[in-house]
Amino acid sequence: MKESEAKERIAELSRLIAHYNKLYYIDDNPSIEDAEYDALMRELGSLEKEHPSLAKADSPTRTVGTAAASRFEKFKHPYPMFSLSNVMNEDEFLEFHRRMQKDTGALSITYTIEEKFDGLAVELIYHGGKFATGSTRGDGHEGELITANIMTISNVPKTIAEKKELIVRGEVLLTKAEFERINREREEADEPLFANPRNAAAGSLRVLDANITKGRKLRFFAYQVANYREVSLTGEAATMDYLKKLGFEISDRIRTVDSPEAVLAMYRDFEAKRRELAYEIDGLVIKVDDHALQEKLGVVSRSPRYAVAFKFKPVEAMSVIEEIVIQVGRTGALTPVAKIRPVPVGGVIVSSVTLHNPDEIKAKDIRVSDTVAVVRAGDVIPKILRVDIAQRRSGTEPYHFPDRCPVCNGETAVTEGEVIVRCINDACPAKILKTIEHFVSKDCMNIEGLGKEFAAELVTKGLVKDFADIYRLTGDDLFTFERMGDKLRDKLLTAIEKSKRTTLSRFICALGIRHVGEETAALLAKRYKSIDAVMTLTHDDLISMDSIGEEGATSIVSYFSDRNNRALIKGMLSLGVTPSHEEIIAVESPLTGKNVVITGSIEGYTRSQAKEAAERMGANVQSAVSKTTDILIAGEAAGSKLKKAAELGTKIIDAPEFVAIIKKHM
Ligand code: NAD
Repeated sequence: MKESEAKERIAELSRLIAHYNKLYYIDDNPSIEDAEYDALMRELGSLEKEHPSLAKADSPTRTVGTAAASRFEKFKHPYPMFSLSNVMNEDEFLEFHRRMQKDTGALSITYTIEEKFDGLAVELIYHGGKFATGSTRGDGHEGELITANIMTISNVPKTIAEKKELIVRGEVLLTKAEFERINREREEADEPLFANPRNAAAGSLRVLDANITKGRKLRFFAYQVANYREVSLTGEAATMDYLKKLGFEISDRIRTVDSPEAVLAMYRDFEAKRRELAYEIDGLVIKVDDHALQEKLGVVSRSPRYAVAFKFKPVEAMSVIEEIVIQVGRTGALTPVAKIRPVPVGGVIVSSVTLHNPDEIKAKDIRVSDTVAVVRAGDVIPKILRVDIAQRRSGTEPYHFPDRCPVCNGETAVTEGEVIVRCINDACPAKILKTIEHFVSKDCMNIEGLGKEFAAELVTKGLVKDFADIYRLTGDDLFTFERMGDKLRDKLLTAIEKSKRTTLSRFICALGIRHVGEETAALLAKRYKSIDAVMTLTHDDLISMDSIGEEGATSIVSYFSDRNNRALIKGMLSLGVTPSHEEIIAVESPLTGKNVVITGSIEGYTRSQAKEAAERMGANVQSAVSKTTDILIAGEAAGSKLKKAAELGTKIIDAPEFVAIIKKHM
């Protein structure tokens, strides 16, 4: 490329990358996939290599992350925090290895192989054995001070046996299960979903209110001691042992190897198995083990020369958009969804991809009939990576987002600072239907037989406008339905009647309060024991509870202070709904008094039903397998927990055996 062209392209790439850096590091809301971003960085890197005189000192290829966000107090790192250079395939790794051989003069090099956690890097400093400060990486020199937020992470040791100053670095992340739980709650509460666990972790940690952090079960994995000399650590493997002894969680899959072939074998093994891990990794980090050799190799601008990120290939597939439909959620959010020709992406058939909001469609100029690349972002939620413009049919038009609600034709609005378009008509049948579907669902009031179709008919006929109307239904109302016989009518009426005697936690969950899913509802019920008490909770009462953050507390208080909501609840109570809190009285069973972990799916039971059953049989249900776990109940598709239990020699019960125990004892 000619120098003048290169200059222009370098400027353009630098501008683009700075823009994406802000979205990623400051807003925790990236608009492009990592693979796309990496491609831009590589293009910039190779142009700068071709034209060294055009490479600026502040180029993104030479700097780390981005400056700390202004809303936080700044923290200067005692030693800079670096990024990592990366290799994308086996040949590039072998090239790295040859460089290591050449620069150290050693034929054989010992490497440690670590997981490349897909979270965010933090630095924890301990003084006199006490946790003193926590900070993010920022631009590598100065990060954001987030000590209070780090304090809420339960596996961060608050005191350690090392009395010398210690600078520990590692990654804060969310497990896939916790990420899915948070997203499930957000979905139930009709809030925008986090795109992947990394953004969810960063969004949970980089907040001014540590109560929000507290509500999300973040985990910290340590991988580095920055002042290793002061505590006499000679290499990476020794560092890991030392950190583990001090009580830090480290990956239990770290390996030390002596050949590049062994690294490649591990890479292939991980690439095949990464989906089974409890958390996301986006590659491996290969480090020269010996600290003396590391010092000899040194650092170039933004990354050490002795380590490399060996990235996994993104799982991607091509398909065609057949239709874009608009779904209307419980809070009226209009979510565009692309219906695509079904295609397998990383082992899962994808036929529908959320497009999130109108801005996303506009930014990528997504049109019906376009050929698109689909990825599973963070391996979980399918996402459209890009449109293949070369294959675009002639005569297609940009997608026009509807001006009115496609269900009720009501007006729509965008709340300030948000990108989501919402239908603002309270009587919108789609909104009512979603709230009713949630209310009657298995995990809420559990009205058997009142499925989606009936609910839809009840709403369209105007027989049900709110929850209380369900309890006003008569046999005659139900007879207006097609194919309704005496038997079905009686069955439905009995199910409705039966649902009136419910638990307090199910009732709270059924109300569909934003940010209140099953777990929060259960917590409220356990602590406050009656709906009257829950209805009068203050913001401070709620914040003082574990796991309820700022957003949750605000939402709960606002829900119960709304006169209509209070009237609705009173209405249901006067119609005979009696939510009661019952302390679980356990029956004697082989699970009594045992620490139990449930994983995988158990046919015929939702996760909360399986948990409830285990608790009723006297088990103490834990969320993760540890040495204290007595029994692992492993259902279908059990993954890392099963592996861990097998490693620890924990007793394992399969799904049929568990179901047999339930049937025998309950
Ligand atoms: P990086 O993520 O490639 O590598 C450095 C980071 O790896 C460290 O800071 C640390 O957080 C992490 N890490 C995880 N496990 C580790 C281990 N065992 N040992 C050491 N470090 C470990 O580099 P980066 O500068 O943090 O970020 C660049 C990456 O972020 C890019 O590869 C890109 O994919 C992504 N990014 C994406 C966007 C976007 O818009 N999608 C924008 C900016 C950055």
